Amino acid sequence: MTDRYAIFGNPVAHSKSPQIHAEFARETGQDISYQRSLVEREDFSRAVDAFRLSGAAGANVTVPFKVQAYHCATELTPRARRCGAVNTLKFDGATILGDNTDGIGLCADIDRNLRFMLADTRILVIGAGGAARGVMGNLVDARPKLLVVTNRSIRNAEAITQQFNDDANINIRVMPVTELPLHQFDLIINATSTSLTNELPPVPSASFTAQTLAYDMVYGRGQTPFLALAANAGARTADGLGMLVEQAAESFLLWRGVRPNTAPVLAMLRKQLAQDTY
Ligand code: NDP
Repeated sequence: MTDRYAIFGNPVAHSKSPQIHAEFARETGQDISYQRSLVEREDFSRAVDAFRLSGAAGANVTVPFKVQAYHCATELTPRARRCGAVNTLKFDGATILGDNTDGIGLCADIDRNLRFMLADTRILVIGAGGAARGVMGNLVDARPKLLVVTNRSIRNAEAITQQFNDDANINIRVMPVTELPLHQFDLIINATSTSLTNELPPVPSASFTAQTLAYDMVYGRGQTPFLALAANAGARTADGLGMLVEQAAESFLLWRGVRPNTAPVLAMLRKQLAQDTY
């Protein structure tokens, strides 16, 4: 019997997850279907329950439901508990297991696809919303020399670093934007939504070096103002398409017990995006 999955979000029409999971299923010989599910804000938990009771096997969750999904789950993986948000649900009878694969997806892209070793580096995360919260734990686990979080609202940056303050082995700091020009970083991650509106996140060009990797979590927007600033400063640049594919592969692994090869899917999406741009 075909196992059914879906992505719940609002908006969700733009989601590439159905295509990614269809490719993963083809490559690994798994019998699944995967649909988009547009859900009204107040209907999320009802929609998840209805999907589960219809015999579905699991779901992905995107904006704005990741925190609601956390509260919907009857069990949580340690990494989901740590970030307080869920992007993957797995159904087993009445059990709803909540997981979060965003952080491991980001690190897999940076580490395996971009061949950038995170250990002992100086990392700057710009942003303190759901995406930043989702990746903090994995970045801490990668043991950088310094992990700095900056954000337009500094209180939100403090909130997402709070739980790591007791970790004496790693230097985690919240830094106001005004202090950034005094520091340079090996990896700068734009985890704000500024690229969606063609704005520049709060980061000075002085924070980039020719060895810096500038990573914009947004994908499909060409050279964003953030990536343009980084490129002008001589830095290497990457968008978030690899993170999207890698987090999907981790969801697939949780559901199906097999991790698909991500390279062909990433190459296919890259080609599609290039065609869409021209
Ligand atoms: P949220 O809405 O939760 O957070 C938005 C963040 O951006 C906050 O830190 C907010 O700051 C900041 N921000 C928004 N507008 C501005 C502005 N004009 N100037 C400065 N800062 C601003 O969004 P998410 O964290 O869920 O998502 C962030 C981005 O990451 C999205 O664009 C999304 O597309 C991308 N993403 C990519 C993924 C991938 O797989 N590649 C996965 C998940 C997300 P403040 O706290 O001050 O409001």
